[in-house]
Amino acid sequence: MVRAALRLAAALVVVAGLFSAHVGTAATMSVAPGSPEAIASAQHGFDLSNMDPTCKPCDDFYRYANGGWLDRHPLDAQHSRLGRFTTLAEDNQAIVHGILDKDAAMHAAAGSPEQLTGDLYASCMDTAGRDRAGISPIVGDLAVIAKTNIGDLPATVAQLQNDGIPAFFTFGGGTDQRDSNSTIAQAGEGGLGMPERDYYFKTDAISANLRDLYAAHVKRSFVLAGDDDATAQSEATAAIGVEAALAKATRLATERRDPLRNYNKMPLAQFTSATPHFDWTAYFKDRGAPAFTSINTPAPNYFVQLDATLTATPIGDLRSYLRWRTIDRYEPSLTTAFGDEAFSWTGKALAGTTQPLDLWKRCATSVDQTVGQALGQEYVRVAFPPQARIRARELVHNVEAALRDDLQTLSWMSPDTRTQAIAKLDAIKDKIGYPDKWRDYKGLSLDRGAYASNLLRNARYEGARGIARIGKAVDHSEFSMTPPTVNARYSPTLNDILFPAGILQPPFFNPNADDAINYGGIGAIIGHEMTHGFDDSGRKYDGQGNLREWWTPADAAAYNARATCVEKQFDNFVAVKGENGQPDLHQTGKLVLGESIADLGGMTIAYRAFKKTPEGMSTTKIDGFTADQRFFLGYAQIWPENDTTQAARLRVTTDPHPLNNFRVLAPLSNTPAFAAAFQCKLGDPMVRSVAERCQIW
Ligand SMILES: [Zn+2]
Repeated sequence: MVRAALRLAAALVVVAGLFSAHVGTAATMSVAPGSPEAIASAQHGFDLSNMDPTCKPCDDFYRYANGGWLDRHPLDAQHSRLGRFTTLAEDNQAIVHGILDKDAAMHAAAGSPEQLTGDLYASCMDTAGRDRAGISPIVGDLAVIAKTNIGDLPATVAQLQNDGIPAFFTFGGGTDQRDSNSTIAQAGEGGLGMPERDYYFKTDAISANLRDLYAAHVKRSFVLAGDDDATAQSEATAAIGVEAALAKATRLATERRDPLRNYNKMPLAQFTSATPHFDWTAYFKDRGAPAFTSINTPAPNYFVQLDATLTATPIGDLRSYLRWRTIDRYEPSLTTAFGDEAFSWTGKALAGTTQPLDLWKRCATSVDQTVGQALGQEYVRVAFPPQARIRARELVHNVEAALRDDLQTLSWMSPDTRTQAIAKLDAIKDKIGYPDKWRDYKGLSLDRGAYASNLLRNARYEGARGIARIGKAVDHSEFSMTPPTVNARYSPTLNDILFPAGILQPPFFNPNADDAINYGGIGAIIGHEMTHGFDDSGRKYDGQGNLREWWTPADAAAYNARATCVEKQFDNFVAVKGENGQPDLHQTGKLVLGESIADLGGMTIAYRAFKKTPEGMSTTKIDGFTADQRFFLGYAQIWPENDTTQAARLRVTTDPHPLNNFRVLAPLSNTPAFAAAFQCKLGDPMVRSVAERCQIW
């Protein structure tokens, strides 16, 4: 991925129409009409006003390339992050807005894409209806919880999870990492209310304050659900106590990144014997799971601890925990008061914003996340012409060819590993824009009744779909992102790369723009996803998507030494400066390693692909910049982003992607061609010595 999937509604940043693919500049106007330079600049798609020429490129290239853009896009009350991914998401959302207004007005035939999107959108926008419905969408689940005794726990947990409520653990069908054509049962850690395990335990003042804010938020939510003040207080204390016990058993985010440690496939009897006090047979039946005999869990010890927690905790406390999980899951979609309460935590405390996003934007996001392939069909018709798909595929092939050349000549890889690496690259499948075959939503019922009831039925529908896959073959054609999404993905088990139509748009991709812009933008993103197949985690899978050791020990050691170089560089980056006597917050090299390797590799491979294009080989300057300079500017200009301090802290502690400025500074400071392009010298902040330099590809 190029950025983390949105965890919080408030993290979606939107500002309309603030960039343009074709911006004339003073520099282009002095060029003689009809000259090669004039022709090139007329379609170049490069905006000099985004730069800060007062900053030296060799001091801080992120600021030099983006200072103008950053200054023109300050954060406002609704936005915790504002970058080019989010301004493009806003542009895409403006298109989606038009589609949804039309769908909501048309009352299309039941089950049609337009009915599903139109009715869901209308129910989300109907705040009066949501207020009238009150807590009724979840009242059935709350009633079941109230009657639950220890023996009913498996049935209650199954019902809540069927309704999409994350309680105690996760369960579903997932790809067998060592047999990538099979779907097996998988059970893992889950059911926390704060973003990461450490939020429950860190002792610094900022973390302690966040915990206080969380406790107050949980208590107020119980009051909204009908508790009196004293009951709400004791329920909140109990619920958070159970969450903390689960958090204690949960692994660190860095530990969860290792696919070898995540693979613990075992006979079902072995798994269930670790939790003798939980009746899995009853649970699996109520979840509608088909019969199966083996299961994988990335966290066997978690279930041992869970069993201990379930037996040691009074049933009243477990009920409070389950009530809180239920309220928390649906709080943003219930009444205005519940929505405001949810925002006080996710929007204010965690993200540092003061106002929620406009309602229509939240509703458009909800439709995209719920029935994204119904909405996506309409979006693609408007926003992604067939020609763009053809051009994007061409670019993908050119970047693939550059990586192939590199693998063939890489000095540190032995012939055995090299042959397999090339076979893996050749086996990568490309998914571009939208699925070849759209999925349907047969059997899903969405209507203009309570919005939260729609979401609950959808959760039940998708959960059942996931569980029904256990024991079945993996669907290799699945398109796992929605078309308007501004992001991209590599799947190690499918060994495919996926670029939704939503990111194949300016400024990342512009079929009319010149090569430097396209290779620096979408080219680097294509390279990023492709090299994920060879990052510290992805390299452990073979071309068929199976977790299998195919590197010689010497090559694996050479790779690990290079990866450690990247990890150390990131450990040294100060991400958030200390405040109120707090220490600086550094990036965690181990957490961001895969993404940082992909950034470095993606930019490097895209640069090499660019050097094979006519413009890449040309000595003609455009806007006063050489071809190489324009490539590196094009790369840096996809990354500007303003963040609130809270959003930056949240990202550094939970997100495997580094902060955006380091996604420019780290790769380029390791790249001799960058230093040469801007005549940077050893000793400049943007230049690392040979001894310090990290290079993989
Ligand atoms: Zn990525």
